[in-house]
Amino acid sequence: MADFKVNILGCGSATPSLRHLPSCQVVDHRDKLMMVDCGEGAQLAMRRMRLKYSRLNNIFISHLHGDHCLGLPGLLSTMALHDIEGSVTVHTFEEGAELFLRIMNFFCRERTYELKFNIIRPENAIIYEDKSLTVETFPLYHRVPCVGYIFREKPKLRHINREMVDFYRVPVSMLHSIKEGADYELPDGTTIANERLTTPAEPSRSYAYCSDTIYSPRVAEAVKGVDIIYHEATYADAQADKARQRGHSTAGEAAKIALEAGAKKLIIGHYSKSYNDETQHLADARSIFPETIAANEGLTVDIT
Ligand SMILES: [Zn+2]
Repeated sequence: MADFKVNILGCGSATPSLRHLPSCQVVDHRDKLMMVDCGEGAQLAMRRMRLKYSRLNNIFISHLHGDHCLGLPGLLSTMALHDIEGSVTVHTFEEGAELFLRIMNFFCRERTYELKFNIIRPENAIIYEDKSLTVETFPLYHRVPCVGYIFREKPKLRHINREMVDFYRVPVSMLHSIKEGADYELPDGTTIANERLTTPAEPSRSYAYCSDTIYSPRVAEAVKGVDIIYHEATYADAQADKARQRGHSTAGEAAKIALEAGAKKLIIGHYSKSYNDETQHLADARSIFPETIAANEGLTVDIT
């Protein structure tokens, strides 16, 4: 099983329906769970996909429309009832932090974990960092302030070539810097190039989440070089006018973003409830970017 993947918990727009829940995803990086948007039904969807509350410490909200955050009070309250410990950080705009803190202080004052808020802005910034991963925001273009998120693995260490390291009698204390790319100097002053002592590191992988936005080449610029992109495709191409009026994209526009950004794979979602299925969305997107898949509740995509 891959150690970097995204789970789709909800990929409908506006309201829950019998076919789709509102926006919610959980990125799993080496068993650390990071939720992206938290529409209604998020906590039940987590249970259905067997994602443990105890492994969830960060929730990233793209914007303050109900279909992206109304699941938050329920999820955070349930986590307190499950005696979750440690901390949970909600990354959101200032108004969101004030609002959700008030709601939580009303319904769930006794919390078993520390509830924290990290204030984000619609700008390019690294807002989260751990040993092996960063999360960045970038602006999207919707009816209210909105951001996308890029989950990017940090550069990985090169692999030691055991035979060569033994041959040159490299001391153990030097091995870490050699894994990081340093050359080694022999006692007689000869330099041994790092490429002789190591083999290349695995490539660092990345995933971008582009929620509600009109089509903009600036989005493609922001996610350039990312391996796998999720992009909203509320409407099929025939409804391009409606998409623009409401601050959304069509499937073909999502595909254009993936193509311009040089992505390996595109996941489309945030479907309007006016469709009975996603056949037309997929056809529109694949005519521009063949490596498109349609999000669905319960789907897990490996980031490779
Ligand atoms: Zn939405």
